Amino acid sequence: MQGVGFRPFIHGLANELGLAGLVGNDVEGVFIEVEGAAGLVDAFLSRLRSDAPPLAVIDRVDATAIAPTGRRGFTIVDSLHGGARRALVSPDVATCDDCLVELFDLADRRYRYPFVNCTNCGPRFTIVTGVPYDRPNTTMAGFAMCPDCRREYDDPTDRRFHAQPVCCPACGPTVSFWRWKDVSRSVIHRQNAEEEGDAALCAAVEALRDGKVVAIKGLGGYHLAAIANDEPAVSTLRARKHREDRPFAVMVADLGAAHALAHVDEGEAALLTSTPRPIVLLHRRQDAPLAPSVAPGNRFVGVMLPYTPLHHLLARGVGAPLVVTSGNVSDEPIAYRDDDALERLSPIADAFLTHNRPIHIRTDDSVTRSFRGRELPVRRSRGYAPRPVRLPIRVRRPVLACGAELKHTFALGKDDHAFVSHHIGDLENYETMRSFTEGVEHFCRLFDVHPAVVAHDLHPEYLSTKYALEIAGVDLVGVQHHHAHIASCLAENGETGPVIGVAFDGLGYGVDSTIWGGEILIADLADFERVCHLESVPMPGGTMAIKEPWRMAAAWLGREDAAGLAVRERHADHWDTVASAARAAINAPVTSSAGRLFDAVAAITGIRDRVNYEGQAAIELEQATDPSVGDAYALAVDDIIHARDLVHAVADDVRAGVDVGVIGARFHNALAQAVVDAADAVRQHRGLETVALSGGVFQNQLLLERAVGGLQSASFRVLLHSQIPPNDGGISLGQLAVAASADSR
Ligand code: ZN
Ligand code: ZN
Ligand code: FE
Repeated sequence: MQGVGFRPFIHGLANELGLAGLVGNDVEGVFIEVEGAAGLVDAFLSRLRSDAPPLAVIDRVDATAIAPTGRRGFTIVDSLHGGARRALVSPDVATCDDCLVELFDLADRRYRYPFVNCTNCGPRFTIVTGVPYDRPNTTMAGFAMCPDCRREYDDPTDRRFHAQPVCCPACGPTVSFWRWKDVSRSVIHRQNAEEEGDAALCAAVEALRDGKVVAIKGLGGYHLAAIANDEPAVSTLRARKHREDRPFAVMVADLGAAHALAHVDEGEAALLTSTPRPIVLLHRRQDAPLAPSVAPGNRFVGVMLPYTPLHHLLARGVGAPLVVTSGNVSDEPIAYRDDDALERLSPIADAFLTHNRPIHIRTDDSVTRSFRGRELPVRRSRGYAPRPVRLPIRVRRPVLACGAELKHTFALGKDDHAFVSHHIGDLENYETMRSFTEGVEHFCRLFDVHPAVVAHDLHPEYLSTKYALEIAGVDLVGVQHHHAHIASCLAENGETGPVIGVAFDGLGYGVDSTIWGGEILIADLADFERVCHLESVPMPGGTMAIKEPWRMAAAWLGREDAAGLAVRERHADHWDTVASAARAAINAPVTSSAGRLFDAVAAITGIRDRVNYEGQAAIELEQATDPSVGDAYALAVDDIIHARDLVHAVADDVRAGVDVGVIGARFHNALAQAVVDAADAVRQHRGLETVALSGGVFQNQLLLERAVGGLQSASFRVLLHSQIPPNDGGISLGQLAVAASADSR
């Protein structure tokens, strides 16, 4: 990995051992020549690994003997260009403790300077424009170092030795503050830039404390921020952003402040303070000082700690939690170019805190959670990308995996590395499509990959599929969606299978041209067999049924079996028509989706009839469920999981007036038990003992907990995700593993 202080570390180690030689970066990685007494050279080689700096990831050490030169002293040599590029670009790294001390040290020349960084921290991936990782190949190229910074940069004993983004108030980027003067919000006038430098920061802090919405340029894009304990401020942001009820994340100054908002266990504290500084989904305290609009009706709250000096200054300055959400309107991609941000965010923000260091690659905040002490990613982006995932197989010819559609990522495979992209978003408009295609080109340049094999989903309407099919001169590999889910889980666990794969998600194209989503597979990286699935049902109105879960209830229950249910009364005008259309299979594709089953149950139990975002009904059903209830509905499993009986049992309980918390629990427990039963049947016939769980439905903590618990009690070995999300953000890795496996045969 470049830019993590490895060369200065080598320099220091060689000097300490009295060895002569040199160290440098080339496109292959780091090269070192040392000479001296044999014992000392051996000591050097072993401490090379054991004492390496915190951010260094040592992939491999190749050592060969060369003739001594009689050289004296140890030097760091310039980067060499040319040849095959293999050196890795580091993800962005949160401000380190040393830099934080300087930031708040009155006597330091970088006191309150919002861009302080060093070899151990600071921007990387978001500012890199090319390789090798040197200042001219970053968005810091336009800032000439002052003599003081140059001295630190050139001094091998300094913490900033060869820190490419090194800068200070005298030579580096500056922040500025703008306020929008508008009465009607239809005509916007930009006043003169009001404040610069520290005054700009103070003005932003004041505006936030005053309840204003401020657009803030961060590391991977613009955020919209508002003080989180002020209901008018938060609801104003919500209304202007056209975001109805999806929860906002909050940023707090430190771990202590996080404890005030939520219950934080050891694993969660470790994630909060980890160098990627993700948003961590935590169990919210009842008395958390948060405005109701932050996360309406949600048991969880997404919390993150500051990860740049700018965020540290703001969080401390405001002294209260801040809502920090992507700078966009509803589902658009996050704004990261200044002119675009000014245009798109001016109707939302009262003021702007911006700066003049360009962002080269847009990256959203990552979202993660802790499951049984291990990380379970939800969105893998800033701070994680483009760190490679080590593959269990060698990639023969370079692979591009184009991903799916929602929560899109792509991946490049080379040698035994998979470079999974940052989160691109939902591929449904020109902007996200452009991020995808430009992202592919950027990654191909950075990692020197020229794809010979291109993997894609089987869904003919996915924009990622269409993109793949237009690439000339490559071998195309279509990968079934749920096979890709299981393959991604296998690959990140360093396994090749075969395993029992349980893939539960929203929707994915099946090989029989129906829509799958509740699948039990026998799968390895190369191939799969569908051995069991959730009972299929028509999805009346197609995509309409995704937005309106009550339609799934109508599909399952029909006209007669819905008698006496409130959901039928609420949709009395359309219920019979929708139920008949489902029965007659008119505009009603057939699906075995687990996500749609959750939708039906959410509608029948009165939780939600219409959703504002994907997965909302299932999330709210989970939240409404009483986890202390242990009993389950009976649910038969043979070559299908008999979901119809399950839906009817739910309807009976609703009619009998059973509490929704109890119904939810019986439903979750039944589905978890069905997973165990299905796995057990496969074990009896095929002798497989390992189960891999994947698909977006396994973001449901209760279902996951119950399924893992049940499987382990039945002596199964269980594979879960910990590097890559179980949702469609992980599809690209799975496609890559499948295509690479096919290509190696
Ligand atoms: Zn630092
Ligand atoms: Zn400087
Ligand atoms: Fe999926």
